[in-house]
Formats: sequence, structure tokens, C-alpha cells
Amino acid sequence: MQDALMFDPRDTAAPDGPSPTEPASTLEGLDARGKREFNKLHKRLRRQVGNAIIDYGMIHEGDRVMVCLSGGKDSYTLLEILRNLQRNAPVNFSLVAVNLDQKQPGFPEHVLPAYLEGIGVEYHILERDTYSVVKEKTPEGKTTCALCSRLRRGSLYGFAEEIGATKVALGHHREDILETLFLNMFFGGSLKAMPPKLLSDDGRNMVIRPLAYCREADIAEFARLMDFPIIPCNLCGSQPNLQRQVVKEMLAEWETTHPGRLESMFKAVTNVAPSQLADRELFDFAGLEEKQAQRQADRIDIHQEL
Ligand code: SF4
Repeated sequence: MQDALMFDPRDTAAPDGPSPTEPASTLEGLDARGKREFNKLHKRLRRQVGNAIIDYGMIHEGDRVMVCLSGGKDSYTLLEILRNLQRNAPVNFSLVAVNLDQKQPGFPEHVLPAYLEGIGVEYHILERDTYSVVKEKTPEGKTTCALCSRLRRGSLYGFAEEIGATKVALGHHREDILETLFLNMFFGGSLKAMPPKLLSDDGRNMVIRPLAYCREADIAEFARLMDFPIIPCNLCGSQPNLQRQVVKEMLAEWETTHPGRLESMFKAVTNVAPSQLADRELFDFAGLEEKQAQRQADRIDIHQEL
């Protein structure tokens, strides 16, 4: 734990801008103001990721962090920010990028290897035809995402063990966490979101979400400016999860009409008061009388001493 707490990007003189191995053309088109804005955005993301790593003890000395790279804006950003922090962190950790090629029709196989070789990151492309399994097992008209995600998770977690990864890093951000919170409340009858750090059910993998404090809009802008070679996420032909889409739009509207609301809601996820909710497992409501009697006895003792 101590090693992870020492990992403090606030104390390091991190250079501005992307990693030195970045293709030179990436930010060429920006004028001086644009470059300043980019540097601010880059610093903000780096600070937020660094803080999340510290707050949740995500990365320790000697960790081998497997970054799950889908080819979307979030995972590219995650890899880039971690690479950047890695150069300045007082703890040593290694990064390995892993993409799961799910054999979706039209998946551009060359894109990720070319990108990863260009930036000099160790990587693996894991080939598993989950696409056919999902198509075969899911009844016509039903959404395929639940089974697809389960199979993907299983493949990636298993592979992490194979390559000796001690952490599995996923690119979920603040909005993903809040969307999950509302989906669980609206449809699942439970008050739970997506934790920044998680031990897998079988205890074999430690999963981390270093982008937990980052706004999706910041990530989208960073990905746009970095010109990441994005692979579209609709190759499978599945309809987007309608419920998640509705929640996503609700949050996006709040972000526009009530600035600061999402920030406050995220803070709420980190600041839970079990005695002010109604979960009998989390708080001993039945024991309140006993507590009350104890308090009264303590008060009487104090009065007697006076
Ligand atoms: S959108 Fe397609 S690839 Fe993504 S989780 Fe759903 S089924 Fe899988």
C-alpha cells in the first residue's frame, strides 16, 4: 500500500504534452492557444488519473498492468495517460496492451498492431470468436451485449493470468460509473455503481479503473486532438442498449442544464452514509435502542463525575 501512496503525480515535474514516442504529426495543426488548451486538458486528465491511482491504491511497485484496448476513445486515452505517468512515477510498473479480437465482421485487424508498434508498447492481440457464440446463443431480437461482455471479460481475465498481469486496467470513466448507478437504481433495485478497484468474483484478477475521475467529454476531446485511430464499436451490428442510452442522454442533459450536478453525484458515490439509507445489512437499525441506552448511561456517568 505504501508504494502505491508514494505514486503522486502532483509532486513530479511531468513534462507537458504527449509521450515522446507519439507521431510528430499528432498536434501539428494547433495554434499556440490550441496547444495551451491541449496541455491543460492533458494535465487535468493526468492529475485525475494520478489521484484515482493514489486514492484507491491501484498501482504498486512491480505491477504489470494489462491495459484492455478496444480501439475506442476511452481505452486509447487510458493507455496514453498511463504511459505518461509511468515515465514520472516513483514506482516502477510495466504496461502491456491487450486487444481482444472478437472476430466481428469488418474488424480492421491491422489498426491496433500498427498503432502499438508505432508507440513502442508491448502488446498482444487475443483472438476469440465470441461473435459467433453470441450470435448463436442470443435469441433473435434480443440484445447481445450482456453475453458478449461476459465472454469478453472471461477471455481477458484468463489471458491476464496467462501473461502474469497483476492488474487489469479498464477504460471506464466517471459517466460510465454514474450511468451504471442509475441503471441499477432504475432497473436493478440496488444502489451500486462500478468501483474504481475490484477483485474479480473468483479472486484471481485485480481490476482497476484509472479513468474513474475523468469526464467523458474531456476524454472525447483528448482522443480527438490525439487523433487516435478509433475503431467503431458497432461492428457487431447490435443495437445499442436502449436503457443505457436513455440514462446517458439524461446525464448529458443535466451536465448542460445543471453544471456541477454530475460532479456532485460522483462525489456522493464516494461519500456514503449507511445510517441515512435503509440497508439493514449495512447499518444495525435494530441495535439503535441499545446504542441509545449506552449513550444515556454515558451521559449519566459524566453528570455524576461533574
Ligand atoms: S455492442 Fe456489440 S461488441 Fe459491444 S458489447 Fe454489445 S454485442 Fe458486444
